Amino acid sequence: MQVLKEHPCPNCNSELNFDADKNALKCLHCGAIFPIEKSSQVVEENNIRVFKDAAAIPIEPVTTVIYKCSKCGQETQAGADIAFFECRSCGNNVLNPEAYKTRTITPTGILPFHLSKQEALDVFKQWIGKGFWNDSSLKELSLADKLEGHYVPFFTFDCQTYNQWEGYAGTYYYETIRTKDASGKEVTQSVQRTRWYWREGSFERFFDDILICGNTRITQDQINKIYPFNLQQVELFNPEYLLGWHARAFDKELSDTFDAARNEINDRVQREAAQHLADDTYKDLSVQTRYTSETFKQVILPVWLCQYLFKGKTYHFIINGQTGTISGNKPLSTSKIVIAVVIAIIVIAVLYGMSQ
Ligand SMILES: [Zn+2]
Ligand SMILES: [Zn+2]
Repeated sequence: MQVLKEHPCPNCNSELNFDADKNALKCLHCGAIFPIEKSSQVVEENNIRVFKDAAAIPIEPVTTVIYKCSKCGQETQAGADIAFFECRSCGNNVLNPEAYKTRTITPTGILPFHLSKQEALDVFKQWIGKGFWNDSSLKELSLADKLEGHYVPFFTFDCQTYNQWEGYAGTYYYETIRTKDASGKEVTQSVQRTRWYWREGSFERFFDDILICGNTRITQDQINKIYPFNLQQVELFNPEYLLGWHARAFDKELSDTFDAARNEINDRVQREAAQHLADDTYKDLSVQTRYTSETFKQVILPVWLCQYLFKGKTYHFIINGQTGTISGNKPLSTSKIVIAVVIAIIVIAVLYGMSQ
């Protein structure tokens, strides 16, 4: 039996949402503000063993829960992995505290939304540029309806690495050779050569909070563009922060997130080893890495997502809900296209004129 929780306003029994501006719960009806009690407990790292054991178990297919609204009596069906939803009839707020338990690993930390919807829209307007925003067809879109605040599950990985590297370092030197130019005249020429020598060494490097997204709807490439998140501000997980926001358990296989973190660590190790090895250049670099003190945690981070149709094409953008960093694809400005076309016509005309 699923335990679904309503979270009414103590004053007026209406819906309470987490308000990013106030950093507190706010009643949608009477406007009363209720601070969220903060825990002084730190968000702890967990041993990677727990993660590896959990990763051996595939993600189970999503079942559903049925919520019967205490206010209007209507029933709403929702995915069992959805942590917050609304009554489909009257909009009453429902928390599903069991949603994250549909997975083998549950979140320990959360970064509350800092950017309100209005602030996110302002970030978008600034990014897209005034010209576009004044385009009536974009104005009519009412992006506010399409902009969604999502609490997205992430995994952070820490580890100490001990790296032994070896390979050939190369130094450049120059040789003067005699050769003949096109007219057969003898000339001297300086040619760059490389002297190779074997080098080896080792270094230690600690990696803190390698952050991998656990939601398949967002690619790691997209999320990399709105990094960093200030994870110092992560708080102990508290479902009250989810009130009024999209929130869903992770759906990426754990083994994939672990592999992504390892690849990121190995890339950075490789780059550092190359710096150690290289003189003017290097080749045949090989690195052996030992990983120790590996830990992880699951944290829920705030992300604004938007997809919209503009003049027949789909565009999307994504905003860091903590810092306001934005990334996405923008429609091209009509005036810029006109200028580009005019330049192209002039270039073709000139080339044609020259060929005559
Ligand atoms: Zn109220
Ligand atoms: Zn209802």
